Amino acid sequence: MFIEQRKKNNIPQKKFIADISHELRTPITVIKNYVEILENFGAEDPKLFHESMTAIKIAAENMQNLVESLLFLARADENTHSLQKISVELNEILESVVKLSKNPRVKIIFGEKFHFMGDPEFLKKMFGEFLKNSLLYSKGKVTVEIHAEKNFATVKFIDMGIGISAEDIEKIFDRFYRADKSRTKLDDKKNSPGLGLTIAKWIADRHEIKINVESELGKGSTFELVIEN
Ligand code: ADP
Repeated sequence: MFIEQRKKNNIPQKKFIADISHELRTPITVIKNYVEILENFGAEDPKLFHESMTAIKIAAENMQNLVESLLFLARADENTHSLQKISVELNEILESVVKLSKNPRVKIIFGEKFHFMGDPEFLKKMFGEFLKNSLLYSKGKVTVEIHAEKNFATVKFIDMGIGISAEDIEKIFDRFYRADKSRTKLDDKKNSPGLGLTIAKWIADRHEIKINVESELGKGSTFELVIEN
């Protein structure tokens, strides 16, 4: 799996397999430990039962996300994704992405109507990855700002969170790359394996969408997408 991409990116096979194994080991351990706790004490203690169930659910979701991301990238490498491009409206797509997040921290600033050719499902996935990160790496408000001109539009995902250092910015689109190696993520149970931006970039490239990143450690980040019609 990913052999071509691995060669292209020069990712050593050992590291590549180690990355995947590491990502799977943590949730498997969580599930195993909590099942043991439940077997021993859980049934009589409603609080412990609830805590165990929540942890098991999050661990299972993390594994599911990892597997889905790996499958997405495998199909990307094999060139078997089929994009169905139609005329889409930018504000509508972002409205549905923000709604889906169900997060009251998100504020959306709409722009003029902007139509362009794209696959709505892939685009929603791409925007969703940027929004997910803005929420995951910040605590305060996240702004999604749309600005449309005649021939191009921009979408900004603005957060005032932990930020990214200049040296990390170059690498965050790489597979399995995490700037927060020490797991300083604000919601560290929801473990994302460092594939979201790789997927988002792949989708952006298929739509000739340019991505600009501005960020400062401790201050926050802005991911700007530039879309031409
Ligand atoms: P992950 O699944 O770890 O979120 P991504 O590929 O989506 O992986 O992002 C790669 C890394 O880029 C993250 O681990 C994080 O360190 C950094 N990053 C991405 N978006 C942000 C953001 N809005 N603020 C701070 N760091 C970010």
